[in-house]
Amino acid sequence: MPELPEVEIVRQTLEKKIRLKKVKKVLVRNRNLRFKIPLNFGNFLKGKQIIKVKRFSKYLILCFSSNNFCLLHLGMSGTIHLVQNKNQGCITNTSFYNSPILPKKHNHVEIIFENFKIVYNDPRRFGFFQIINNLNSLKKKFLNFGPEPFNSKFNIEYISSFFRGKKKNIKNFLIDQNFVSGIGNIYASEILFLCKIDPSKKVHLLKIDECKKIITNSRIVLLKAIRYGGSSIRDFRNAKGKKGNFQKNFKVYNREGLNCKRYRCEGVIKKKVISNRSTFYCNICQI
Ligand SMILES: [Zn+2]
Repeated sequence: MPELPEVEIVRQTLEKKIRLKKVKKVLVRNRNLRFKIPLNFGNFLKGKQIIKVKRFSKYLILCFSSNNFCLLHLGMSGTIHLVQNKNQGCITNTSFYNSPILPKKHNHVEIIFENFKIVYNDPRRFGFFQIINNLNSLKKKFLNFGPEPFNSKFNIEYISSFFRGKKKNIKNFLIDQNFVSGIGNIYASEILFLCKIDPSKKVHLLKIDECKKIITNSRIVLLKAIRYGGSSIRDFRNAKGKKGNFQKNFKVYNREGLNCKRYRCEGVIKKKVISNRSTFYCNICQI
């Protein structure tokens, strides 16, 4: 599933490619995504110029010169492919996960520009497109979302007041988008490992120092993942193969039964299920 770093990589690639370009035509092959694509979708986009590609949390935001927007969420399995008119069969994926070249099936939406097109592929169809008519509606859309870890609003005062008197565990909060936006299941385990915090610890018991570590390490983990995703994209394009992605740098995620990577720690990585999600932690340095 794409998380914030993967979506940011897609944003960077798209921004380079489609900024200031005009949509020539839109082809909707299948309207039945998580939310049905509206009938006027093609007409809405046609002729519009994209002035910027933004991102909030895991949402991509195409900003048009006409001051309206198109939201795109990749869901569980959505990918965006850039297809040049003349170069068929090349690497098309804008991120490093899933098929590097345009799959034959599940290409639900095509947004066509002068010399290329972007194709939305999504086998499980949990992703969606949404038209947003003005800036106010866009702000409203994200009103109940917590700040991203990079935002200065994600600070010690915010965290302390949010956690006061709450008895849920920290792992649950890190993946709760009302508290903080853009941390998914994988990165929550990685962040708590760096903080040496037990994922089951109740948040009202966290010390100020631990909250500070959560802020710093959330930023470190996401930025590092973006950096690796970025370099992997470059390798991907140059060498035409998958390498150097962030998965290889996981400290705990998917490492059940393996030794802890922390210097001199003799712990073993354990897995437990918290709110139906797998959580990985070291049984010595995170207790
Ligand atoms: Zn350890």
